[in-house]
Parts: sequence; structure tokens; C-alpha cells
Amino acid sequence: MTGLGQLAWTAVPHEALLVVPVGSVEQHGPHLPLDTDTRVATAAAQALVDATPGALLGPGVAYGASGEHDSFAGTVSLGSEALHLVLVELGRSACRWAARLLFVSGHGGNAATMIRAVPLLRHEGRDAAWWPCTFRTPTHTPDAHAGRTETSLLLHLDRAAVCTDRAAPGNTNGITDLMPALRAGGVQVVSPNGVLGDPAGASAAEGAALLAGLVQRMTAATRRWDPAEGGVLR
Ligand SMILES: [Zn+2]
Repeated sequence: MTGLGQLAWTAVPHEALLVVPVGSVEQHGPHLPLDTDTRVATAAAQALVDATPGALLGPGVAYGASGEHDSFAGTVSLGSEALHLVLVELGRSACRWAARLLFVSGHGGNAATMIRAVPLLRHEGRDAAWWPCTFRTPTHTPDAHAGRTETSLLLHLDRAAVCTDRAAPGNTNGITDLMPALRAGGVQVVSPNGVLGDPAGASAAEGAALLAGLVQRMTAATRRWDPAEGGVLR
């Protein structure tokens, strides 16, 4: 692993790809830590850097846009306007020396900001892109929040961080059905314990497989480096 923060400036490679995880500090039910998204984004970004010559892992942006969770204790949201400014100014500064910049977002609520900030950087002539940590595959349908998917990921990354005895199902309706109520009143209105999904059946082995699949897709997309509209790698 090559970490930007550990290097002297003279050791920074030419034509570097800087990879910056972007997470959140938001409730993840009664059983998962508030920094779940940051942990997942950082683990994925680290694995990408390990597999990509010339890539550097930058210190992450630990806070994101989490307004939909802000009625739960512990949630701290920058909001989309402040996050936009953070990403744009981070990109403008990094691209003075980095040839390319990739944001790896661990939180779905950051996407609306990513698709504004990254195209602005690209419009300004900076070679930025982003990648969302999504776990939908032909064999896995992820639940929306703090359910089986994220519980499996955390069991894999840090078993001790998961309070399995407190894990309980939340609202298991599909996110599309929940969206109007979610938009109007936030997560608490549809799920008092904060979970959208059901942690039952989660395992470290499933988490390891989900993360490995994500890293494989992201590493291949980084090799292609073909940002679509919105700056997302495809
Ligand atoms: Zn999450």
C-alpha cells in the first residue's frame, strides 16, 4: 500500500493517480459503527491502489452528505453544498501534481454531489473521476442501508466493530417504494431503528466476496479510465 500521507514530497511519483475515499459519519442501525461507509470506501480504495501501479491512497474525506439520517444521534453531515466545495477544491489542489484523481464514494447520499463536482473538475481540464461502492451483482441484491450487505462487509473488515446481539431488521420495503416518505421525512420516519433491510444471514465470508467483486470491477474500470457523463468510471 502506498499512502500519500506517509511519503516525503520528493518521493511522490510523476503521473500519479491519487485515490481518495469519501465516506460519511451517519447512523448505521443499532449494530454498525457510524463510520461504516468510510471504512468500506477506504478498504476498497486501498485494494485498488495495491493493484494499480502509480496509484497513491490519499487520506479520506470522512464526512459526507447525510441529511436523511440527521435525526439520529451521532450523524454528522457536511451537506451537499459544503461537500461540493470540499471535493472541488481538493481536486483543484491535487491536480497541480497528480495526473489523475479518483474519488471512491462509500455512501450513496454523496452521489448527487459527485455528479456535480467531478464534471466541474473535468470541465476545468482536470482528469478526475469517481466510483460508487455499490454491491449489486447478478447474484446479490444489496439492501439499502445497514442490512445484510453492509453487516457482511463490516464482519469481514472488523468483526469486533459489529454488535451482532443488537442486529435487528428495519424496514424491508424496496427503496423505490420508500423514497417519497424518505425524501419528505428522512430515514427515521420509515425505520425507527435506522435499518433499511435485514442484517439476518450476514457473514464475513459474504462480505469478503462482495468487497473482492467490487474491487475487481473498480480496478478494471480504472484501467479503462473512461469516465461517463457525471464523471463516473464505467
Ligand atoms: Zn452505509
